[in-house]
Parts: sequence; C-alpha cells; structure tokens
Amino acid sequence: MSDYLERLFSLAGKVAVVTGASRGIGAALAAALAQAGAATTGVARSTPGEPFPGIDYRVCDVRDEGAFEALCSAVFEKHRRIDILVNAAGITLPRDRESDPRAAFDETIRTNLTAVHRCCEAVMPFMRQTGGGSIVSVTSIGSMLGFPDNPGYAASKGGLRALSRALAVDYAGYGIRVNNLVPGYVRTAMTEASYADPERHAQRSARTILSRWGAVEDLAGAVIFLASDASSYVTGSDLVVDGGWTAKGL
Ligand code: NAP
Repeated sequence: MSDYLERLFSLAGKVAVVTGASRGIGAALAAALAQAGAATTGVARSTPGEPFPGIDYRVCDVRDEGAFEALCSAVFEKHRRIDILVNAAGITLPRDRESDPRAAFDETIRTNLTAVHRCCEAVMPFMRQTGGGSIVSVTSIGSMLGFPDNPGYAASKGGLRALSRALAVDYAGYGIRVNNLVPGYVRTAMTEASYADPERHAQRSARTILSRWGAVEDLAGAVIFLASDASSYVTGSDLVVDGGWTAKGL
C-alpha cells in the first residue's frame, strides 16, 4: 500500500469498540477494523463461536448503561484512547398477532435506539479526551422505506438515522464524527429464515440492482472508510450498502 493510502485508510494506533460483535454484521465489522490495524474490543451478550484473532471480546448487554460505561472505562484505561465506536448490536422482533406487539415494539426501540444513544453518550467523554473519533451506527434500508409487520424495527432504525444526525451536530465541537452505515439484505442469523425461503430469497434478490443478497464482507470497506481519516469531511451522513435496493425503480 502506498504511503498515501496508508495515511487515508490505516487504523494503526486507533482503538475501536464494536457492539454486536458475537456474530453476523458486527462480527465482520470488528474483524475488518482489526485487520485495518485497530485494537478492537468486541461486545455482545455472548462470545463468538469462532473468535477473530486479536479481538478482545467482552460480554456486555448494551441495554445496561452502567455496564457499557464501565466497559468503555476499562478499554480507555488499557489503551489510553477510544477512537471508534461501531453500534451494530440490534434485534428484530416481527409482529406476532398471537403475542404482544406493543411489548415487541418497546423492546426493539429499547435495544436498537435507546441503547445506542446511551452507548454514544458513554463513549463521547473518552473520545473527547484525545481530540475526537468516529461513531458508526448500523441502521437499515428500513430506516428509509416501509416494510410490513415490523413497525418497531422501522421506527427504531428511522430514529437511529435521525439520532446520528443530531449527535453529529452535538459532538462536532469535540472532533467526533457520527455516521450511519445502511445495509440492505445481508445473510446473517437475523435474516436466515427469509434467506432459506426460496420465494422470499428470490424476491429480495430481484428487488436489488445487483441481483443478489449481501454478504457480511460486503460491508467491510464501508466501515473502514467511515472509521478512518479517509472520511474526515463526512459526518451526519448515510452510507448505503444495499446492492442498489433503495436506488431501483424498475
Ligand atoms: P444478528 O446475527 O442477529 O446479530 C445481532 C448481534 O447483536 C449479535 O452479535 C447479538 O449478540 C447482538 N446483540 C443483540 N442484542 C444485544 C444486546 N442487548 N446487547 C449486546 N449485544 C446485543 O444480526 P445481524 O444481521 O448481524 O445484525 C447486526 C445489525 O445490522 C443489527 O443492528 C441489524 O438491525 C442490522 N441490519 C441487519 C441487516 C441484515 O440483513 N442482516 C440489514 C440491515 C441492518 P448476542 O445475542 O450475543 O448479544
């Protein structure tokens, strides 16, 4: 890699915290940051089956504000800085008319929106101390478009989209940039049921300009861009990595 590219994209010397790192998108984003050189801590309620070499995995529920603050404190104590927070922890609880849709709505907002706000607030004072950082929150094309039977998910991701813009304004004076990474349909445990259903699988591929589902690796370049100096003039924005889902007319 040329010196120029190294300066733009390398995360050597940077410290990253990634939530939702036990599997799926969060695990891939943590691995991408670690491979770009960041000392990376992966956070989830469980540890991954196949840990990525070099990542420090910690068990923490992001809904527990005090526990996440303590975790940030421990990371800062160890590395004397935190440069990057990636909020990838998230849930989807499709509305089930037999159970309690209001409880599903509330729980989805709590995990996907309220907890992300608290994680950003917890990490901000540490980032400030060393002159700034980059926060990347994983939203969804559901933050922009209507999808059936899961209003809590759409509301949580739409709220998160707006939250990132608000925090981009509030944190700019501390040198902290805040952006959204917006995946389309990506094969993970969260989407395995529709991936495995031939009809839904084909429908989602056909709706995408690139005619295929995303793989978690498709998001790696985007998170390195948003976390690194390559995006030093990018804040309050949405980086859409959806194979063209939101761009497609016919
Ligand atoms: P996934 O495979 O179900 O992974 C979700 C991750 O979030 C797991 O690591 C899970 O770990 C963690 N998590 C959930 N609740 C948590 C909590 N309370 N505290 C800490 N960690 C928690 O789903 P995914 O598809 O990778 O989704 C990752 C993110 O991408 C989510 O925000 C999702 O909404 C978003 N997204 C996914 C797609 C897609 O097509 N897959 C598309 C757009 C956006 P534990 O269970 O171990 O806690």
